[in-house]
Amino acid sequence: MFTYRYRELPVALEKKGEVRNALARELRLNPEEIFNLEVERFALDSRRKGAPHWSYNVIFDVEHPFRASGNAARGLIEATRERETLESDPLAGSVPMASHVDIVGAGPAGLWAALHLLRRGFTVDLYEQGKPVEERFRDIRRFFADRIFNEHSNVLFGEGGAGAFSDGKLNTRSRNIFSETVLRDMVDFGVDSHVVTFAKPHIGTDRLVLMLRQIRAEIARLGGKIHFNTALEDVEIKDGRICAIKLRDVSSVSQALNSATRWQKCEALVLATGHSARGIYELLAARGVTLESKAFAMGVRVEHPQTLINLKQLGKGVDTRLTGAAEYFLATPTLNKTSSAYSFCMCPGGVLVPCASEPGTLATNGMSYSRRNGHTANGAIVVPVEASETTFGGLDFQRKTERDAFEVGGKAYAAPAQTIKSFLAHHADKNLPKSTYPCGLVACNMWDWLDKKICKSLAEGFQNFDRKIPGFIEQGLIVAPETRTSSPVRITRNNDTLESVNTQGLFVLGEGAGYSGGIVTSAADGVRLAVRAKISK
Ligand SMILES: Cc1cc2nc3c(=O)[nH]c(=O)nc-3n(C[C@H](O)[C@H](O)[C@H](O)COP(=O)(O)OP(=O)(O)OC[C@H]3O[C@@H](n4cnc5c(N)ncnc54)[C@H](O)[C@@H]3O)c2cc1C
Repeated sequence: MFTYRYRELPVALEKKGEVRNALARELRLNPEEIFNLEVERFALDSRRKGAPHWSYNVIFDVEHPFRASGNAARGLIEATRERETLESDPLAGSVPMASHVDIVGAGPAGLWAALHLLRRGFTVDLYEQGKPVEERFRDIRRFFADRIFNEHSNVLFGEGGAGAFSDGKLNTRSRNIFSETVLRDMVDFGVDSHVVTFAKPHIGTDRLVLMLRQIRAEIARLGGKIHFNTALEDVEIKDGRICAIKLRDVSSVSQALNSATRWQKCEALVLATGHSARGIYELLAARGVTLESKAFAMGVRVEHPQTLINLKQLGKGVDTRLTGAAEYFLATPTLNKTSSAYSFCMCPGGVLVPCASEPGTLATNGMSYSRRNGHTANGAIVVPVEASETTFGGLDFQRKTERDAFEVGGKAYAAPAQTIKSFLAHHADKNLPKSTYPCGLVACNMWDWLDKKICKSLAEGFQNFDRKIPGFIEQGLIVAPETRTSSPVRITRNNDTLESVNTQGLFVLGEGAGYSGGIVTSAADGVRLAVRAKISK
Protein backbone atom coordinates (compact mmCIF):
# COMPACT_ATOMS: atom_id res chain seq x y z
CA MET A 1 0.00 0.00 0.00
CA PHE A 2 1.07 3.60 -0.61
CA THR A 3 0.00 6.36 1.78
CA TYR A 4 -0.91 9.92 0.80
CA ARG A 5 -2.30 13.05 2.43
CA TYR A 6 -4.71 15.32 0.65
CA ARG A 7 -5.08 18.90 1.91
CA GLU A 8 -8.05 21.24 1.56
CA LEU A 9 -10.44 18.80 -0.05
CA PRO A 10 -13.62 20.83 -0.69
CA VAL A 11 -16.92 19.24 0.39
CA ALA A 12 -20.32 20.90 -0.05
CA LEU A 13 -22.02 22.22 3.10
CA GLU A 14 -24.89 19.74 2.95
CA LYS A 15 -22.47 16.82 2.34
CA LYS A 16 -20.54 17.17 5.60
CA GLY A 17 -18.55 13.99 6.30
CA GLU A 18 -19.04 12.55 2.80
CA VAL A 19 -15.35 12.56 2.13
CA ARG A 20 -14.74 9.35 0.18
CA ASN A 21 -16.73 10.34 -2.89
CA ALA A 22 -15.37 13.90 -2.85
CA LEU A 23 -11.78 12.60 -2.70
CA ALA A 24 -12.37 10.03 -5.44
CA ARG A 25 -13.85 12.73 -7.67
CA GLU A 26 -10.99 15.12 -6.98
CA LEU A 27 -8.30 12.49 -7.72
CA ARG A 28 -10.23 10.75 -10.52
CA LEU A 29 -10.18 7.42 -8.67
CA ASN A 30 -12.96 4.93 -7.97
CA PRO A 31 -14.12 5.22 -4.34
CA GLU A 32 -13.24 1.49 -3.95
CA GLU A 33 -9.60 2.22 -4.82
CA ILE A 34 -9.22 4.31 -1.63
CA PHE A 35 -8.34 2.37 1.54
CA ASN A 36 -7.98 3.30 5.23
CA LEU A 37 -9.35 6.78 4.67
CA GLU A 38 -9.08 8.95 7.78
CA VAL A 39 -10.00 12.59 8.37
CA GLU A 40 -7.13 14.39 10.10
CA ARG A 41 -8.69 17.86 10.28
CA PHE A 42 -11.61 19.74 8.82
CA ALA A 43 -12.74 23.35 8.89
CA LEU A 44 -15.39 25.64 7.50
CA ASP A 45 -13.92 27.64 4.62
CA SER A 46 -15.92 30.84 4.33
CA ARG A 47 -13.48 32.87 2.26
CA ARG A 48 -15.94 32.95 -0.66
CA LYS A 49 -18.83 34.93 0.78
CA GLY A 50 -22.22 33.41 0.10
CA ALA A 51 -20.67 30.04 -0.79
CA PRO A 52 -18.88 28.55 2.20
CA HIS A 53 -17.86 24.89 2.09
CA TRP A 54 -16.11 22.32 4.27
CA SER A 55 -12.41 21.81 3.76
CA TYR A 56 -10.88 18.44 4.78
CA ASN A 57 -7.32 17.23 5.32
CA VAL A 58 -7.29 13.44 4.92
CA ILE A 59 -4.84 10.55 4.89
CA PHE A 60 -5.47 7.39 2.82
CA ASP A 61 -3.85 4.39 1.14
CA VAL A 62 -3.93 3.24 -2.48
CA GLU A 63 -2.57 0.02 -3.97
CA HIS A 64 -0.33 1.66 -6.56
CA PRO A 65 1.64 4.89 -6.52
CA PHE A 66 -0.01 7.60 -8.57
CA ARG A 67 0.21 11.27 -9.51
CA ALA A 68 -2.70 13.66 -9.50
CA SER A 69 -2.99 16.19 -12.26
CA GLY A 70 -4.12 19.81 -12.44
CA ASN A 71 -5.46 21.47 -9.27
CA ALA A 72 -5.57 18.16 -7.41
CA ALA A 73 -1.77 17.83 -7.62
CA ARG A 74 -1.39 20.83 -5.30
CA GLY A 75 -3.17 19.14 -2.41
CA LEU A 76 -1.50 15.73 -2.63
CA ILE A 77 1.64 14.66 -0.80
CA GLU A 78 3.22 11.31 0.03
CA ALA A 79 2.88 10.47 3.73
CA THR A 80 3.56 7.98 6.52
CA ARG A 81 1.20 7.03 9.32
CA GLU A 82 3.66 7.41 12.18
CA ARG A 83 1.91 8.91 15.20
CA GLU A 84 3.36 10.63 18.21
CA THR A 85 2.49 9.01 21.55
CA LEU A 86 2.63 10.32 25.11
CA GLU A 87 5.61 8.07 25.74
CA SER A 88 7.55 9.77 22.93
CA ASP A 89 7.71 12.96 25.05
CA PRO A 90 11.50 13.26 25.61
CA LEU A 91 10.88 14.01 29.31
CA ALA A 92 8.42 11.14 29.92
CA GLY A 93 8.97 9.52 33.33
CA SER A 94 11.79 11.88 34.29
CA VAL A 95 10.31 13.80 37.24
CA PRO A 96 10.50 12.01 40.61
CA MET A 97 7.33 12.46 42.68
CA ALA A 98 5.98 10.89 45.88
CA SER A 99 3.55 8.07 45.10
CA HIS A 100 0.69 9.92 46.81
CA VAL A 101 -0.27 13.25 45.24
CA ASP A 102 -2.61 15.91 46.64
CA ILE A 103 -4.20 17.99 43.89
CA VAL A 104 -6.03 21.25 44.59
CA GLY A 105 -8.58 22.47 42.04
CA ALA A 106 -11.01 20.38 39.97
CA GLY A 107 -10.85 22.53 36.83
CA PRO A 108 -9.52 21.09 33.56
CA ALA A 109 -5.88 21.10 34.77
CA GLY A 110 -6.58 19.35 38.09
CA LEU A 111 -9.03 16.82 36.63
CA TRP A 112 -6.70 15.75 33.84
CA ALA A 113 -3.71 15.60 36.18
CA ALA A 114 -5.74 13.33 38.48
CA LEU A 115 -6.89 11.04 35.65
CA HIS A 116 -3.45 10.54 34.16
CA LEU A 117 -1.56 10.27 37.47
CA LEU A 118 -4.04 7.57 38.57
CA ARG A 119 -3.52 5.76 35.25
CA ARG A 120 0.22 5.76 35.97
CA GLY A 121 -0.12 4.14 39.40
CA PHE A 122 -0.11 7.18 41.72
CA THR A 123 -2.74 7.55 44.42
CA VAL A 124 -4.59 10.86 44.37
CA ASP A 125 -6.72 13.03 46.64
CA LEU A 126 -8.32 15.92 44.75
CA TYR A 127 -9.57 18.89 46.80
CA GLU A 128 -12.08 21.34 45.36
CA GLN A 129 -13.56 24.26 47.28
CA GLY A 130 -16.75 24.20 45.18
CA LYS A 131 -19.49 21.63 44.71
CA PRO A 132 -20.27 18.82 42.26
CA VAL A 133 -21.49 20.31 39.01
CA GLU A 134 -25.21 19.59 39.60
CA GLU A 135 -25.26 21.44 42.96
CA ARG A 136 -23.06 24.15 41.55
CA PHE A 137 -25.60 24.71 38.78
CA ARG A 138 -28.27 25.40 41.42
CA ASP A 139 -26.04 27.97 43.16
CA ILE A 140 -25.41 29.74 39.85
CA ARG A 141 -29.13 29.86 39.04
CA ARG A 142 -29.84 31.26 42.50
CA PHE A 143 -27.16 33.89 41.94
CA PHE A 144 -28.63 34.94 38.60
CA ALA A 145 -32.17 35.09 40.03
CA ASP A 146 -31.64 36.45 43.56
CA ARG A 147 -28.04 37.80 43.45
CA ILE A 148 -27.05 35.53 46.36
CA PHE A 149 -23.34 35.13 45.73
CA ASN A 150 -21.52 32.05 47.02
CA GLU A 151 -17.79 32.69 47.02
CA HIS A 152 -16.91 28.98 46.78
CA SER A 153 -19.57 27.87 44.28
CA ASN A 154 -20.14 30.11 41.27
CA VAL A 155 -19.45 30.54 37.54
CA LEU A 156 -15.70 30.22 38.22
CA PHE A 157 -15.48 27.80 41.13
CA GLY A 158 -16.70 24.23 41.53
CA GLU A 159 -16.34 20.94 39.67
CA GLY A 160 -15.07 21.66 36.14
CA GLY A 161 -13.58 25.01 37.22
CA ALA A 162 -14.04 28.06 35.02
CA GLY A 163 -14.41 25.72 32.05
CA ALA A 164 -17.76 24.24 33.11
CA PHE A 165 -20.07 27.18 32.49
CA SER A 166 -18.14 28.46 29.54
CA ASP A 167 -18.56 28.77 25.82
CA GLY A 168 -17.08 25.27 25.57
CA LYS A 169 -14.74 26.18 22.73
CA LEU A 170 -12.04 23.55 22.59
CA ASN A 171 -9.61 25.50 20.38
CA THR A 172 -5.91 25.48 21.06
CA ARG A 173 -3.41 27.70 19.33
CA SER A 174 -1.02 24.81 18.81
CA ARG A 175 -2.03 21.19 18.92
CA ASN A 176 0.40 18.68 20.40
CA ILE A 177 0.22 15.16 21.80
CA PHE A 178 -0.98 16.44 25.20
CA SER A 179 -3.90 18.43 23.77
CA GLU A 180 -4.73 15.58 21.33
CA THR A 181 -4.89 13.25 24.34
CA VAL A 182 -7.31 15.60 26.13
CA LEU A 183 -9.61 15.71 23.10
CA ARG A 184 -9.50 11.91 22.70
CA ASP A 185 -10.24 11.50 26.43
CA MET A 186 -13.26 13.77 25.98
CA VAL A 187 -14.57 11.47 23.25
CA ASP A 188 -14.17 8.52 25.66
CA PHE A 189 -16.27 10.55 28.12
CA GLY A 190 -19.11 10.84 25.64
CA VAL A 191 -18.28 13.98 23.65
CA ASP A 192 -18.88 13.86 19.88
CA SER A 193 -15.77 12.63 18.05
CA HIS A 194 -15.69 15.69 15.76
CA VAL A 195 -13.78 17.52 18.53
CA VAL A 196 -10.64 15.61 17.57
CA THR A 197 -10.72 16.55 13.90
CA PHE A 198 -12.66 19.83 13.64
CA ALA A 199 -10.37 22.87 13.53
CA LYS A 200 -12.58 24.91 15.87
CA PRO A 201 -14.38 22.43 18.09
CA HIS A 202 -17.13 23.62 20.40
CA ILE A 203 -19.35 21.59 22.71
CA GLY A 204 -21.16 24.15 24.86
CA THR A 205 -21.80 24.16 28.55
CA ASP A 206 -24.61 21.54 28.44
CA ARG A 207 -22.28 18.86 27.01
CA LEU A 208 -19.40 19.90 29.29
CA VAL A 209 -21.58 19.27 32.32
CA LEU A 210 -22.44 15.74 31.12
CA MET A 211 -18.76 15.03 30.46
CA LEU A 212 -17.78 16.15 33.96
CA ARG A 213 -19.99 13.48 35.51
CA GLN A 214 -18.21 10.82 33.47
CA ILE A 215 -14.81 12.11 34.55
CA ARG A 216 -15.89 12.05 38.18
CA ALA A 217 -16.95 8.41 37.80
CA GLU A 218 -13.68 7.48 36.08
CA ILE A 219 -11.56 9.09 38.82
CA ALA A 220 -13.54 7.12 41.43
CA ARG A 221 -13.17 3.89 39.40
CA LEU A 222 -9.39 4.39 39.33
CA GLY A 223 -9.37 4.79 43.13
CA GLY A 224 -9.01 8.59 43.28
CA LYS A 225 -10.90 10.54 45.93
CA ILE A 226 -12.54 13.88 45.19
CA HIS A 227 -13.25 16.06 48.24
CA PHE A 228 -15.73 18.79 47.37
CA ASN A 229 -16.38 21.78 49.67
CA THR A 230 -12.73 21.57 50.73
CA ALA A 231 -10.47 24.60 50.35
CA LEU A 232 -6.70 24.77 50.64
CA GLU A 233 -6.06 27.38 53.29
CA ASP A 234 -2.34 27.18 54.04
CA VAL A 235 0.86 25.33 53.18
CA GLU A 236 3.90 24.53 55.27
CA ILE A 237 7.26 24.72 53.55
CA LYS A 238 10.41 23.58 55.36
CA ASP A 239 13.91 23.81 53.92
CA GLY A 240 12.51 24.68 50.51
CA ARG A 241 10.23 21.64 50.38
CA ILE A 242 6.48 21.32 50.76
CA CYS A 243 5.64 19.24 53.84
CA ALA A 244 2.04 19.91 54.94
CA ILE A 245 -1.23 21.50 53.81
CA LYS A 246 -4.10 23.01 55.77
CA LEU A 247 -7.58 22.28 54.46
CA ARG A 248 -10.89 23.85 55.43
CA ASP A 249 -14.33 22.31 55.05
CA VAL A 250 -16.30 25.19 53.51
CA SER A 251 -19.66 23.40 53.32
CA SER A 252 -22.42 25.48 54.89
CA VAL A 253 -22.86 22.90 57.68
CA SER A 254 -19.29 23.17 58.86
CA GLN A 255 -19.32 26.94 58.44
CA ALA A 256 -22.36 27.12 60.71
CA LEU A 257 -20.45 25.10 63.29
CA ASN A 258 -17.40 27.31 62.62
CA SER A 259 -15.43 24.10 62.33
CA ALA A 260 -13.22 21.93 60.37
CA THR A 261 -9.74 22.95 59.46
CA ARG A 262 -7.08 20.28 59.50
CA TRP A 263 -3.36 20.10 58.79
CA GLN A 264 -2.10 17.02 56.98
CA LYS A 265 1.24 15.77 55.76
CA CYS A 266 1.93 16.33 52.06
CA GLU A 267 4.94 15.39 49.94
CA ALA A 268 3.64 16.21 46.47
CA LEU A 269 1.20 19.08 46.00
CA VAL A 270 -0.27 19.92 42.61
CA LEU A 271 -1.81 23.40 42.54
CA ALA A 272 -4.35 23.79 39.74
CA THR A 273 -6.41 26.56 41.28
CA GLY A 274 -7.03 28.74 38.22
CA HIS A 275 -6.33 32.44 37.84
CA SER A 276 -9.33 33.62 39.83
CA ALA A 277 -8.07 32.11 43.10
CA ARG A 278 -6.39 35.34 44.14
CA GLY A 279 -6.05 34.23 47.77
CA ILE A 280 -3.74 31.43 46.64
CA TYR A 281 -1.28 33.92 45.11
CA GLU A 282 -1.31 35.95 48.32
CA LEU A 283 -0.78 32.80 50.40
CA LEU A 284 2.13 31.59 48.26
CA ALA A 285 3.79 35.02 48.37
CA ALA A 286 3.48 35.04 52.17
CA ARG A 287 5.12 31.58 52.33
CA GLY A 288 8.02 32.66 50.11
CA VAL A 289 7.11 30.83 46.89
CA THR A 290 8.52 32.66 43.84
CA LEU A 291 5.86 34.55 41.87
CA GLU A 292 6.18 37.12 39.09
CA SER A 293 3.91 39.64 37.44
CA LYS A 294 2.82 38.87 33.89
CA ALA A 295 1.12 40.66 31.01
CA PHE A 296 -2.58 40.09 30.48
CA ALA A 297 -5.45 41.93 28.75
CA MET A 298 -8.50 43.83 29.89
CA GLY A 299 -11.49 45.46 28.26
CA VAL A 300 -15.21 44.91 27.78
CA ARG A 301 -17.74 42.46 26.30
CA VAL A 302 -19.74 43.55 23.27
CA GLU A 303 -23.03 42.13 22.05
CA HIS A 304 -24.41 42.23 18.50
CA PRO A 305 -27.31 40.59 16.71
CA GLN A 306 -26.00 37.23 15.48
CA THR A 307 -27.60 37.93 12.07
CA LEU A 308 -25.22 40.88 11.57
CA ILE A 309 -22.17 38.66 12.15
CA ASN A 310 -23.57 35.81 10.03
CA LEU A 311 -24.24 38.11 7.11
CA LYS A 312 -20.79 39.69 7.10
CA GLN A 313 -18.75 36.55 7.82
CA LEU A 314 -20.64 33.99 5.73
CA GLY A 315 -22.43 36.06 3.09
CA LYS A 316 -26.06 36.31 2.04
CA GLY A 317 -28.47 33.38 2.06
CA VAL A 318 -26.25 30.85 3.86
CA ASP A 319 -28.09 28.27 5.95
CA THR A 320 -26.52 28.62 9.42
CA ARG A 321 -28.12 25.34 10.49
CA LEU A 322 -25.42 23.79 8.29
CA THR A 323 -22.50 26.10 9.09
CA GLY A 324 -23.23 26.98 12.71
CA ALA A 325 -23.43 30.60 13.90
CA ALA A 326 -20.57 32.68 12.52
CA GLU A 327 -17.71 34.03 14.61
CA TYR A 328 -15.20 36.83 14.20
CA PHE A 329 -11.61 37.50 15.08
CA LEU A 330 -10.74 41.18 14.94
CA ALA A 331 -7.58 43.09 15.77
CA THR A 332 -6.38 46.62 15.13
CA PRO A 333 -3.37 46.74 12.83
CA THR A 334 -1.31 48.82 15.22
CA LEU A 335 2.40 48.43 15.62
CA ASN A 336 2.37 49.58 19.22
CA LYS A 337 1.08 46.44 20.85
CA THR A 338 -0.01 47.92 24.16
CA SER A 339 -2.48 50.24 22.46
CA SER A 340 -4.02 47.67 20.14
CA ALA A 341 -7.46 46.20 20.71
CA TYR A 342 -8.47 42.70 19.70
CA SER A 343 -11.37 40.32 20.10
CA PHE A 344 -11.04 37.40 22.47
CA CYS A 345 -13.15 34.38 23.39
CA MET A 346 -15.98 35.21 21.00
CA CYS A 347 -19.24 33.32 21.69
CA PRO A 348 -21.55 33.01 18.65
CA GLY A 349 -25.19 32.50 19.66
CA GLY A 350 -24.18 32.76 23.30
CA VAL A 351 -25.13 34.68 26.43
CA LEU A 352 -23.31 36.96 28.85
CA VAL A 353 -22.59 35.85 32.40
CA PRO A 354 -21.41 37.69 35.49
CA CYS A 355 -18.33 35.93 36.79
CA ALA A 356 -17.25 37.45 40.05
CA SER A 357 -15.11 35.34 42.34
CA GLU A 358 -15.06 37.77 45.25
CA PRO A 359 -18.05 39.52 46.83
CA GLY A 360 -18.39 43.19 45.88
CA THR A 361 -16.74 42.78 42.49
CA LEU A 362 -18.11 42.42 38.98
CA ALA A 363 -16.66 40.91 35.81
CA THR A 364 -18.35 39.67 32.65
CA ASN A 365 -17.72 36.75 30.34
CA GLY A 366 -19.58 34.74 27.72
CA MET A 367 -20.94 31.21 27.54
CA SER A 368 -23.04 29.18 25.14
CA TYR A 369 -24.93 25.93 24.75
CA SER A 370 -24.00 23.24 22.25
CA ARG A 371 -26.44 24.45 19.59
CA ARG A 372 -25.21 28.03 19.73
CA ASN A 373 -28.63 29.08 18.53
CA GLY A 374 -29.11 32.25 20.58
CA HIS A 375 -29.92 35.49 18.73
CA THR A 376 -26.90 37.33 20.05
CA ALA A 377 -23.18 37.17 19.40
CA ASN A 378 -20.85 38.30 22.15
CA GLY A 379 -17.12 38.73 22.28
CA ALA A 380 -14.54 40.32 24.53
CA ILE A 381 -12.74 43.32 23.07
CA VAL A 382 -9.58 43.72 25.09
CA VAL A 383 -6.38 45.72 25.26
CA PRO A 384 -3.00 44.34 26.39
CA VAL A 385 -1.85 45.32 29.89
CA GLU A 386 1.91 45.07 30.35
CA ALA A 387 3.45 43.12 33.24
CA SER A 388 3.49 45.32 36.31
CA GLU A 389 6.66 46.35 38.13
CA THR A 390 5.31 44.81 41.33
CA THR A 391 4.11 41.20 41.62
CA PHE A 392 0.53 42.15 42.42
CA GLY A 393 0.25 45.38 40.38
CA GLY A 394 -1.79 43.69 37.63
CA LEU A 395 -3.99 41.84 40.09
CA ASP A 396 -4.68 45.08 42.00
CA PHE A 397 -5.63 46.79 38.72
CA GLN A 398 -8.04 43.91 37.89
CA ARG A 399 -9.58 44.01 41.35
CA LYS A 400 -9.98 47.80 41.38
CA THR A 401 -11.70 47.72 37.97
CA GLU A 402 -14.08 44.98 39.17
CA ARG A 403 -14.89 46.90 42.38
CA ASP A 404 -15.53 50.10 40.43
CA ALA A 405 -17.82 48.19 38.04
CA PHE A 406 -19.75 46.76 41.00
CA GLU A 407 -20.28 50.28 42.39
CA VAL A 408 -21.28 51.77 39.03
CA GLY A 409 -23.70 48.86 38.51
CA GLY A 410 -25.50 49.70 41.75
CA LYS A 411 -23.91 47.01 44.00
CA ALA A 412 -26.29 44.21 43.03
CA TYR A 413 -24.40 42.62 40.11
CA ALA A 414 -26.14 44.69 37.42
CA ALA A 415 -23.46 45.50 34.83
CA PRO A 416 -22.38 48.93 33.53
CA ALA A 417 -23.45 49.21 29.88
CA GLN A 418 -23.30 51.66 26.96
CA THR A 419 -23.97 51.39 23.25
CA ILE A 420 -20.78 51.62 21.19
CA LYS A 421 -22.23 54.68 19.47
CA SER A 422 -22.66 56.53 22.78
CA PHE A 423 -19.26 55.30 23.97
CA LEU A 424 -17.66 56.98 20.97
CA ALA A 425 -19.65 60.15 21.74
CA HIS A 426 -18.67 59.99 25.46
CA HIS A 427 -22.21 60.06 26.87
CA ALA A 428 -24.47 57.58 28.69
CA ASP A 429 -27.54 56.21 26.87
CA LYS A 430 -31.09 57.16 27.79
CA ASN A 431 -32.28 53.71 26.74
CA LEU A 432 -30.26 50.56 26.38
CA PRO A 433 -31.06 47.78 23.90
CA LYS A 434 -31.89 44.28 25.17
CA SER A 435 -29.04 42.17 26.47
CA THR A 436 -28.56 38.54 27.48
CA TYR A 437 -26.79 39.59 30.70
CA PRO A 438 -28.94 38.00 33.42
CA CYS A 439 -28.60 40.47 36.33
CA GLY A 440 -29.69 43.71 34.63
CA LEU A 441 -27.76 46.65 33.12
CA VAL A 442 -27.07 50.17 34.34
CA ALA A 443 -26.49 52.85 31.70
CA CYS A 444 -23.23 54.72 32.24
CA ASN A 445 -20.42 56.48 30.45
CA MET A 446 -17.48 54.03 30.50
CA TRP A 447 -15.00 56.94 30.21
CA ASP A 448 -16.03 58.07 33.72
CA TRP A 449 -14.74 54.94 35.47
CA LEU A 450 -12.92 52.53 33.14
CA ASP A 451 -9.18 53.10 32.62
CA LYS A 452 -8.77 55.94 30.07
CA LYS A 453 -5.96 54.26 28.15
CA ILE A 454 -8.09 51.15 27.71
CA CYS A 455 -11.08 53.28 26.64
CA LYS A 456 -8.94 55.08 24.05
CA SER A 457 -7.65 51.84 22.54
CA LEU A 458 -11.18 50.41 22.53
CA ALA A 459 -12.48 53.48 20.70
CA GLU A 460 -9.81 53.10 18.00
CA GLY A 461 -10.58 49.39 17.85
CA PHE A 462 -14.32 49.91 17.34
CA GLN A 463 -13.68 52.36 14.46
CA ASN A 464 -11.43 49.81 12.82
CA PHE A 465 -13.78 46.85 13.39
CA ASP A 466 -16.69 48.80 11.90
CA ARG A 467 -14.79 48.98 8.62
CA LYS A 468 -14.49 45.18 8.67
CA ILE A 469 -18.03 44.47 9.91
CA PRO A 470 -20.20 47.48 8.94
CA GLY A 471 -22.81 47.89 11.69
CA PHE A 472 -20.36 46.92 14.45
CA ILE A 473 -20.68 50.43 15.93
CA GLU A 474 -24.34 51.10 15.11
CA GLN A 475 -25.64 47.81 16.49
CA GLY A 476 -23.11 47.14 19.27
CA LEU A 477 -23.71 47.16 23.01
CA ILE A 478 -20.86 47.27 25.54
CA VAL A 479 -21.24 45.41 28.84
CA ALA A 480 -18.26 45.79 31.16
CA PRO A 481 -15.72 44.92 32.35
CA GLU A 482 -13.90 41.87 30.93
CA THR A 483 -10.96 41.39 33.28
CA ARG A 484 -10.34 37.63 33.44
CA THR A 485 -8.63 37.00 30.12
CA SER A 486 -5.59 35.38 31.71
CA SER A 487 -3.60 35.49 34.90
CA PRO A 488 -1.82 38.73 35.88
CA VAL A 489 0.56 36.64 38.04
CA ARG A 490 2.77 33.65 37.27
CA ILE A 491 3.89 31.04 39.82
CA THR A 492 7.36 30.64 38.40
CA ARG A 493 8.08 27.02 37.52
CA ASN A 494 10.67 24.89 35.81
CA ASN A 495 9.03 24.28 32.46
CA ASP A 496 10.38 20.73 32.14
CA THR A 497 9.38 19.47 35.59
CA LEU A 498 6.45 21.89 36.17
CA GLU A 499 7.77 22.29 39.74
CA SER A 500 8.02 25.66 41.48
CA VAL A 501 11.52 27.10 41.00
CA ASN A 502 12.10 27.42 44.74
CA THR A 503 9.76 24.92 46.42
CA GLN A 504 10.35 21.22 45.91
CA GLY A 505 7.29 19.03 45.76
CA LEU A 506 5.07 21.94 44.65
CA PHE A 507 3.88 21.46 41.07
CA VAL A 508 1.90 24.30 39.52
CA LEU A 509 -0.45 23.80 36.61
CA GLY A 510 -2.92 25.44 34.30
CA GLU A 511 -4.16 28.95 33.97
CA GLY A 512 -3.52 29.83 37.62
CA ALA A 513 0.16 29.04 37.27
CA GLY A 514 0.19 31.46 34.34
CA TYR A 515 1.33 28.94 31.74
CA SER A 516 -1.89 28.05 29.93
CA GLY A 517 -5.07 29.70 28.73
CA GLY A 518 -8.26 27.85 27.90
CA ILE A 519 -9.87 24.53 28.66
CA VAL A 520 -7.78 22.24 26.48
CA THR A 521 -4.36 23.78 27.12
CA SER A 522 -5.02 23.76 30.87
CA ALA A 523 -6.10 20.10 30.78
CA ALA A 524 -3.08 19.35 28.57
CA ASP A 525 -0.84 20.80 31.29
CA GLY A 526 -2.29 18.18 33.66
CA VAL A 527 -1.50 15.39 31.18
CA ARG A 528 2.04 16.75 30.68
CA LEU A 529 2.73 16.59 34.43
CA ALA A 530 1.44 13.02 34.73
CA VAL A 531 3.44 11.81 31.71
CA ARG A 532 6.66 13.29 33.11
CA ALA A 533 6.12 12.04 36.68
CA LYS A 534 7.70 8.89 38.02
CA ILE A 535 7.11 7.39 41.45
CA SER A 536 10.10 8.20 43.65
CA LYS A 537 9.14 6.03 46.63
C1 LIG B 1 -17.44 32.28 31.41
C2 LIG B 1 -16.15 31.70 30.87
C3 LIG B 1 -16.13 31.23 29.57
C4 LIG B 1 -14.98 30.61 29.08
N1 LIG B 1 -15.02 30.06 27.83
C5 LIG B 1 -13.97 29.33 27.39
C6 LIG B 1 -14.04 28.63 26.17
O1 LIG B 1 -15.04 28.64 25.47
N2 LIG B 1 -12.96 27.90 25.78
C7 LIG B 1 -11.82 27.84 26.53
O2 LIG B 1 -10.87 27.16 26.13
N3 LIG B 1 -11.72 28.50 27.70
C8 LIG B 1 -12.77 29.22 28.15
N4 LIG B 1 -12.68 29.87 29.35
C9 LIG B 1 -11.41 29.78 30.10
C10 LIG B 1 -11.28 28.41 30.74
O3 LIG B 1 -12.43 28.12 31.45
C11 LIG B 1 -10.05 28.37 31.64
O4 LIG B 1 -8.93 28.66 30.84
C12 LIG B 1 -9.83 27.00 32.28
O5 LIG B 1 -10.96 26.58 32.99
C13 LIG B 1 -8.61 27.03 33.23
O6 LIG B 1 -8.46 25.77 33.80
P1 LIG B 1 -7.70 25.53 35.18
O7 LIG B 1 -7.93 24.11 35.52
O8 LIG B 1 -6.31 26.01 35.06
O9 LIG B 1 -8.42 26.47 36.25
P2 LIG B 1 -9.95 26.66 36.65
O10 LIG B 1 -10.84 26.14 35.58
O11 LIG B 1 -10.08 28.08 37.03
O12 LIG B 1 -10.16 25.71 37.91
C14 LIG B 1 -9.59 25.99 39.15
C15 LIG B 1 -10.39 25.29 40.25
O13 LIG B 1 -9.64 25.39 41.46
C16 LIG B 1 -10.54 25.61 42.53
N5 LIG B 1 -9.84 26.29 43.63
C17 LIG B 1 -9.32 27.53 43.61
N6 LIG B 1 -8.77 27.83 44.81
C18 LIG B 1 -8.97 26.75 45.59
C19 LIG B 1 -8.64 26.46 46.94
N7 LIG B 1 -7.99 27.34 47.72
N8 LIG B 1 -8.99 25.26 47.44
C20 LIG B 1 -9.66 24.35 46.67
N9 LIG B 1 -10.01 24.59 45.39
C21 LIG B 1 -9.66 25.77 44.85
C22 LIG B 1 -11.62 26.49 41.93
O14 LIG B 1 -12.80 26.39 42.70
C23 LIG B 1 -11.75 25.93 40.52
O15 LIG B 1 -12.77 24.98 40.43
C24 LIG B 1 -13.81 30.51 29.88
C25 LIG B 1 -13.82 31.04 31.16
C26 LIG B 1 -14.97 31.63 31.66
C27 LIG B 1 -14.95 32.17 33.05
